Amino acid sequence: MVTASTSAADAMTDPDRLLHPDEARAIVLGTAKPLGVERVALTEAAWRTLAEPLVAGEDHPPFPAATMDGFAVVADDGSPWREVVGAQMAGLDLALEVSPGLAVRITTGAPLPAGADAVVPVEATEMVDDHVVVHQEQIAPGQYVRPIGADLRQGDPVLDAGTVLGPAEIGLIAGLGWTPVPVRRRPRVSVLSTGDELVQPGQPVAPGQVRDSNRFSLVAALQTVGAEVVWSGHAPDERDPLRALLAERIAASDVVITSGGVSMGELDLVKALLPELATVRFRRVAMKPGKPLNFATSGETLFFGLPGNPVSVLVAFEIFIRPALALLAGRPDPERPRVPVTLAHPVPPTDRTEFQRAIVRVDAGGRLMATTTGGQASSRLASFVGANALLVIPPRDTEYAAGERVDALLVAPPLGSAR
Ligand code: AMP
Ligand code: MG
Repeated sequence: MVTASTSAADAMTDPDRLLHPDEARAIVLGTAKPLGVERVALTEAAWRTLAEPLVAGEDHPPFPAATMDGFAVVADDGSPWREVVGAQMAGLDLALEVSPGLAVRITTGAPLPAGADAVVPVEATEMVDDHVVVHQEQIAPGQYVRPIGADLRQGDPVLDAGTVLGPAEIGLIAGLGWTPVPVRRRPRVSVLSTGDELVQPGQPVAPGQVRDSNRFSLVAALQTVGAEVVWSGHAPDERDPLRALLAERIAASDVVITSGGVSMGELDLVKALLPELATVRFRRVAMKPGKPLNFATSGETLFFGLPGNPVSVLVAFEIFIRPALALLAGRPDPERPRVPVTLAHPVPPTDRTEFQRAIVRVDAGGRLMATTTGGQASSRLASFVGANALLVIPPRDTEYAAGERVDALLVAPPLGSAR
């Protein structure tokens, strides 16, 4: 039964509507749900996303520990001379006891013997036969002792779900004995270059042909975000084999990324075939480069049909695919920092939101200054080299002047001021 509200919803989701990039992003990010959980060994967990919160199951340290090599003593026993009655090394608990007039030799990290409440560092002592002489006027109770639970108390929240596991986080997990580690599954991604004109590496290039670069730049981009590239390849502009390949990759992947074949040409078959294989959400975005961007879903699989120009591919990756993959991987905050920057030179007007590749530097006064990377043609991949920002240039009729402020998405840290 067709109701008025269904047709209104259909109108709102007309895939041919020209969308603002923010609207297109909202659609993409709205479809990207965290993937399932798997348990992996600590050595496999780096840079994955924690799927469950980590709560300290025990105190850390679990015993009062020496933080210096020296002697465990009773702080205020009044005598500079103490008889050394044993040695407590890290890793052992010999059940030694210290009382006034006695001391136990101790190493950093070793448990403090019963009765002792302070450690005198070896530098402040001198051995005379089997006695230690302490050259320290006042010994404060607790000096050079790390009490039970000083770092973490049992029950303390340690890491939130969604935390990306770097070295410190992995170390905390290891220190609390949590293994295997529950993490989000890595997104399985397939990458397909389409186009009869494309030549694969190592093959001779005939007149009119071009070498496939998108497949390799996309695989590299995917590697930087921890996605698992399960397949990458090339397909000619032939309807039946292309349909079969797309169907296979959609079934086998969390994300499928194609390049080429989404413009207005006769051989733009990805665009033509996609409605048979998936629900097309949009295929036109008012952005430059990358206007004919097809986004579709099939079950849980996200499909990005990118245009063929190499810069369009990487801009679309940055604006749409990278944040979507971050959400799939369970990260709560997929956004790049978006900051106002000052243009170091004029920028020509544009009719769509333009994402210009730029180098952002902090100048001597602490201002972020942006210089674009030269020619911004969507075929000129060199415009990405060295870029640490995408300037977001809204459409308007007049030139942007040097000194004007625009927003920038920082894809790498700003550079320091030029010397
Ligand atoms: P298309 O979107 O298929 O019309 O392609 C637009 C432009 O990008 C054409 O000049 C293509 O030759 C070029 N192109 C398409 N795919 C690739 C690729 N995988 N690597 C490099 N250039 C490509
Ligand atoms: Mg093509």
